[in-house]
Amino acid sequence: MMTKKDIIAFLNCRDKKEIDSFFNQAYKIKLDNVGNKVYLRGIIELSNICTKDCFYCGIRKSNNKVNRFCMSEKDIIESALFSHNNRHGSVVLQSGERCDIEFIDFIEKIIKTIKKETNGKLGITLSLGEQAKDTYKRWFDAGAHRYLLRIETSDESFYKRLHPEDHDYKNRLNCLKWLKEIGYQTGTGVMIGLPGQSYESLAADIYFFKDNDIDMIGMGPYVLHENTPLASRNIFNPDRNFELGLKMIALTRVNIKDINIAATTALQTLNPDGYRLGLKAGANIVMPNITPLKYRKDYQLYEGKAFLNESSEGYIDFLANQVKLIGEEIGYSEWGDSPHFYNKKTNNNLV
Ligand code: SAM
Repeated sequence: MMTKKDIIAFLNCRDKKEIDSFFNQAYKIKLDNVGNKVYLRGIIELSNICTKDCFYCGIRKSNNKVNRFCMSEKDIIESALFSHNNRHGSVVLQSGERCDIEFIDFIEKIIKTIKKETNGKLGITLSLGEQAKDTYKRWFDAGAHRYLLRIETSDESFYKRLHPEDHDYKNRLNCLKWLKEIGYQTGTGVMIGLPGQSYESLAADIYFFKDNDIDMIGMGPYVLHENTPLASRNIFNPDRNFELGLKMIALTRVNIKDINIAATTALQTLNPDGYRLGLKAGANIVMPNITPLKYRKDYQLYEGKAFLNESSEGYIDFLANQVKLIGEEIGYSEWGDSPHFYNKKTNNNLV
């Protein structure tokens, strides 16, 4: 494990040669530890109705300019079957946060139906925010096997500055602990380049992933959304955030060799080569957005989101091409689980 001082020095580094050489090292570690296959997760953004009010997020409950929607069961299942027929291996069900019983039942039914309709073949990752342990268990028993819950930042005092008072960092930690106890492959991540975020804090995030034995990482650059309290055009620097996003991928790969790391949409949003450069910096997962076009414009967490008007077929073709360009393969119809989940000795040592 690199020292925090060395991590911070790399985050500060402006020397292109040095940066490229570190990315090459991370890429080699990726090939040696998780191979040259990129796994696809078709992401279905099933609802933007949210009870949370995070200061950075475009679908926060106080943003009254958002046209709220919840996809019908039929549309969600059709999207999942689209992913299955396109040999994605798994889907991610993501939405704004709701904990009411109608929502819990709705998701449980959807998980069961997807499993039934695909003979158990399509893997299901959930990204549905903070829930009760019992809810996580119900969804796990219904057939979901991976869960992504970003800690957003591992720095508790900074977390407080990004959220209203009733959003509880400790509860988020508890949720991660429960997910691991239940047996989910557990993912987390942070936003990178937030206003007021220090390199010390980002270095601590890498330690957080390591110390908590996380299986998968979905992190990406912070991107401004106009109708949020955090929006400040003077501070937002897309190029810097993009570069930091790549550096964080490489640092994570070098320090935790066998986990799954996603090249995220936010990366692609800030740079037309974002996915490809993310893969070259150490990522091994991509998540084509397969949400039907009619809903996509209403799920804007940040501005300029990539592939807002591109058909799901076009999105997949683009990704397949990016993967081919770097000489890697797509793991068609494979779940592409995190090797770390199977390699690690302990399963619930959240510290
Ligand atoms: N409600 C679920 C949760 O909180 O985990 C899932 C949906 S939430 C919108 C998904 C992720 O979007 C968050 O974890 C956050 O990191 C990311 N996000 C929100 N606003 C963002 C922004 N302005 N820039 C980059 N990422 C953002």
